[in-house]
Amino acid sequence: MRAGEPSFRDSVDLMFNRAVRLMDLSPGLENKIRVCNSTYTVRFGVRLRGKIETFTGYRSVHSEHMEPVKGGIRYALSVSQDEVEALAALMTYKCALVETPFGGSKGGLCIDPRQWDEHELEQITRRFAYELIKRDLIHPAQNVPAPDMGTGEREMAWIADQYARMNTTDINAKACVTGKPPHAGGIQGRVEATGRGVQFALREFFRHKEDVAKAGLSGGLDGKRAVVQGLGNVGYHAAKFLSEEDGVKITGIIERDGALISDTGLEVEAVRAHMVATGGLKGFAGAEYVEDGAKVLEKDCDILIPAAMEGVIHQGNAARISAPLIIEAANGPVTFGADEILRQKGAVIIPDMYANAGGVTVSYFEWVKNLSHIRFGRMQRRAEEARSRLIVEELERLSADKGLGWTLAPDFKEKFLTGSDELALVRSGLDDTMRSAYAAMREVWHGRDDVDDLRTAAYIVSISRVAQTYRSKGL
Ligand code: GLU
Repeated sequence: MRAGEPSFRDSVDLMFNRAVRLMDLSPGLENKIRVCNSTYTVRFGVRLRGKIETFTGYRSVHSEHMEPVKGGIRYALSVSQDEVEALAALMTYKCALVETPFGGSKGGLCIDPRQWDEHELEQITRRFAYELIKRDLIHPAQNVPAPDMGTGEREMAWIADQYARMNTTDINAKACVTGKPPHAGGIQGRVEATGRGVQFALREFFRHKEDVAKAGLSGGLDGKRAVVQGLGNVGYHAAKFLSEEDGVKITGIIERDGALISDTGLEVEAVRAHMVATGGLKGFAGAEYVEDGAKVLEKDCDILIPAAMEGVIHQGNAARISAPLIIEAANGPVTFGADEILRQKGAVIIPDMYANAGGVTVSYFEWVKNLSHIRFGRMQRRAEEARSRLIVEELERLSADKGLGWTLAPDFKEKFLTGSDELALVRSGLDDTMRSAYAAMREVWHGRDDVDDLRTAAYIVSISRVAQTYRSKGL
């Protein structure tokens, strides 16, 4: 934590308070929503490399207004109780905003995953999962983790397997965790979902000229210059899709060891390949390397995409950030103090709880798929196929009746009849979700004189939904 800056947890609460002041909630309900319900801390030992290593892990449950509660598990040395509680709170608001029927939770393990081999990580993960499963902190109906920083499909597969071993009669065992590999009960498109969501969020923003003008920008995404911080799962996919599909120029990429800048635009795949091969950005040909990566956050550009850690834009650098539009691909990258400074400068911030909600949205599809025990979209697909077949038959009959000699190109016919695959369904479901969540936020942003930023608008939408659920439960 930087001097003079509130902790991450306090920063989230300060943002919550700013919104709740504009709402008409009883102080009792307001406080019930704000507080974190419980945080479990576990210390466990694993024998590794001939000695016992002790690890500290957490699973925090922020709000159980809906169950299961949902949120990732993070592996990083910086993990702390304050951090998991802040992230769990953000999960509550995120899920409410995109209307996934979950409460908010988050977990973390204090570990540098790069220090351990795969089989060691498996041992550590299974042991951590065992501790959480024993306490129903991993459970298909109560608490469903997912990947976060430092974890991915591999860890989720281990967790799912650990749960299945400990609950051999649970027919819904697979739904105990999301973000699993597709061959182990996962869903197509989950890995890139958060990055895809960032892309859809930006597309949605740029569809509204009035909103674009608020950031002092004009036109569409094509040709806009973006600086991305973090080329991990979220930053990489967001930068890749935006540059390859929307014409965005990636003029800066910031990573742990420095940054790359290029006014003509960086090729994301090439940078990623270099990173995978060398472990960093240094030495990448065809772009300027800057050792002080944090400085590049301040570089002149149209869109800044912090996609790494919380607190990277703080009171110390906020005044020097030149991007008029910031999209929070990470959770909590802008502190409360920085948010105030940026708003005064007129910058528009697309808040984390909306911008990075693609992950949990697709997690929801995966969870539903696991519980329904049927391939996602299979029912819809059967119905669509039947309808498409009717159209094809009618066309062919008409053509024959009238002697028109029409034929459908075979590849078109094939696509038309069988075209709605899982990935397409996931993508369109995600797109719909991002559009309706934006509309809900926007209505408050434009509709109320006392709201002049998207974050406050997002909090108002989320908090009122959570409040409504609590009220209908009789609280
Ligand atoms: N860790 C991701 C997040 O912060 C995904 C959570 C989930 O899918 O449950 O939103």
